[in-house]
Amino acid sequence: MGLTTPPPPYDVAEIFPELPFPPGTDLCQVLRVREYPIEELPDELYEKIEKSALIGADLYEDQLSVAPGTKVGGWIPWVQAPETVTCRHGHEMEHLLTIASWEHDPGAAPRWAPLEERHLLSSDFDPEQLGPSGLMIGDAGDAHLFVCLECPDRPVGSAAQWS
Ligand SMILES: [Zn+2]
Repeated sequence: MGLTTPPPPYDVAEIFPELPFPPGTDLCQVLRVREYPIEELPDELYEKIEKSALIGADLYEDQLSVAPGTKVGGWIPWVQAPETVTCRHGHEMEHLLTIASWEHDPGAAPRWAPLEERHLLSSDFDPEQLGPSGLMIGDAGDAHLFVCLECPDRPVGSAAQWS
């Protein structure tokens, strides 16, 4: 028997009444997004975006390229230069999971912040709201886990970056 309908969201206030969450707060909200990394775009399309007065490469990269935040799979929003993680047999490992200090930065927030939270992005914006999990990896960085799909024992590796 498979899961054919998603389970209802957990109401944190109902499960943990001693915690200071308002009624209706979800324990976890999962969003599925499609990513279009700028470095994977065809050259012709990249050049159009780069020359566009409407969007430009920086805005594309912030708001339309790779989703920031904690996620399973997808592309990695590297803080520094991209890294290649290999297993002990030299196989290039696949991205499995990213754990982020911030779910988005102020430049990317207009695109990636949940609709329910966009009102929080006003001029008196509190930077603490970027990391609701309370995690801080280095200086607002990310930790990435990888898995080798070629080795039968599926070893995992990691990388972490911050600014
Ligand atoms: Zn391997």
